[in-house]
Amino acid sequence: MGRMRILVSNDDGIFSPGLIALAEAASQFGDVVIFAPDFEQSAVGHAITIQRPLKYHRVKMMKEFEAYRVNGTPADSVAIGLYHLGGADLVLSGINVGSNLGNDIWISGTVAAAKQGVFHGVQAIAFSQEINGEEPTYEQQKIYIAEVIEMLTTGNNPQLVNVNLPIDPKGILWTHQSVRAYSGKVVKSQDPKGRVHYWFSEDPLTEPEQNSDRWAVENGLVSLTPLRLDLTDEDALKKLRDFPD
Ligand code: MN
Repeated sequence: MGRMRILVSNDDGIFSPGLIALAEAASQFGDVVIFAPDFEQSAVGHAITIQRPLKYHRVKMMKEFEAYRVNGTPADSVAIGLYHLGGADLVLSGINVGSNLGNDIWISGTVAAAKQGVFHGVQAIAFSQEINGEEPTYEQQKIYIAEVIEMLTTGNNPQLVNVNLPIDPKGILWTHQSVRAYSGKVVKSQDPKGRVHYWFSEDPLTEPEQNSDRWAVENGLVSLTPLRLDLTDEDALKKLRDFPD
């Protein structure tokens, strides 16, 4: 394959340091153009904007990269980017500030941006990195990101892969999504004026299974989970067809 046309997006917004880090890692494989939301939209999932028009504008000061900010969601940004470019060979999303493991995959704007690429028939990879309170440099991760892009674009070319990077990576592991019970905790609080408000947060309740995405990252391994668009529960479908009612 010659030089690829690579669209890079994210859900943390156009000025996220992870976006530039991913663009830099990708630039050795092809011509990179950035389309990203103009502000952070983590956990918006695969939302798209249909109640108002979308606009996009060139952003300078993005190192050597041609970059555009979109006044829409992560999925909007990829759709607009593919429209502007007339297609691409690869969509990359991230590097998200924070992991997207297990149930997060259902909520993640980072994964949704990649998924939007697949909706348009373009292979896509989502990248997220765990956080520990320190500013990430991505120095150790860039080598692995390059290895992952190389591997996924020259072999079996799986259409959608969710990649999670540990802070101190020691290797790569193919994993399955860790689906577990979550706390789904709602915390009641109040603002300085005494008005009641709520925070909703989810934390996993059980330990991760071996070789799952969460297990990999907890063990210092870069997690690669191939995802599919068909959400059909094949086992349930078979049972329901074989034994109706
Ligand atoms: Mn995010």
